[in-house]
Amino acid sequence: MQPLSVSAQTRLLVVAPHPDDETIGCGLLVQQVLAAGGMVRLLLLTDGDNNPWPQRFIERRLRIDDAARKRWGVRRRAEVMHAIAQLGVPASALHPLGWSDMGITNRLRDDAFGSMAAIRAQLQEFQPSVICCPALDDRHPDHGAAHVLCSLALSDMPSAPTLLAYPVHGEANTERYPILVEAAADQQQRKSRALEENQTQMALSGRRMRRLALGPERYMAADTAAGDLRLPWRPPSALGRWLRLMVATPAGVQDWRWIDAPIARDPDGTYRFTWPSGHPLPKPAFAKLHLDWPTPWIFDHWGWHAL
Ligand SMILES: [Zn+2]
Repeated sequence: MQPLSVSAQTRLLVVAPHPDDETIGCGLLVQQVLAAGGMVRLLLLTDGDNNPWPQRFIERRLRIDDAARKRWGVRRRAEVMHAIAQLGVPASALHPLGWSDMGITNRLRDDAFGSMAAIRAQLQEFQPSVICCPALDDRHPDHGAAHVLCSLALSDMPSAPTLLAYPVHGEANTERYPILVEAAADQQQRKSRALEENQTQMALSGRRMRRLALGPERYMAADTAAGDLRLPWRPPSALGRWLRLMVATPAGVQDWRWIDAPIARDPDGTYRFTWPSGHPLPKPAFAKLHLDWPTPWIFDHWGWHAL
């Protein structure tokens, strides 16, 4: 276990795909940075507006049209303002991008350079010393894609800040997340109060969220140089024609049908990615195996892998 030290020089940028991720993932660290005299900025990628089941439950309606979805986003934006106020973060530190909830992977695929530029603009303006972003293997697709985007955005910075990844959906054991932020009881209580401000989320998922917010926070240092061209997946061949392989690097994003993707199969059955241009693969590089059809299941089955 490694503690994380903060000081008056710490400039912490928290990247949250949705309202409440900042509190679940970093609510203690945020308080400790502020207590040490450091600075905090929250980059909120979406307003969490694509959240139909809690909305149906709370608003007692079945059909969620565009106006209803927009209204929900406004409500969740207000909740995150109240939540960060509990953590001591001023409203001026919130920087919302208003991207489409459940749409970060497609945004990355369709406008990789524009998306990276939006993150880079924040980095240049705020000059963080530490960035906390979601984990690459978080099962929510917006979270994995946010990690990829942050890593890509950092790739051309002359003195890159420390990139830490926090878990929300998925396993969070100490072996994978060895950096711990432990807090005094009053900080833990403020984190709980901040979480309770997310009333739209507490209605259906309160128990899960309270469990996630208990105890110390865990982080891993993102190693943007790490990677393996051998892919971890052996998808069933019956799915072959519906599968796609997306690869994201600082040079852009490509999304092939699995059967057309530049991969070779090793004698042991492992698939290996082969960068098609003949040049070295630009780093960092990430691959995602995904299905080509829409599904009501929001979580990733295969997710991302660092190449
Ligand atoms: Zn989230």
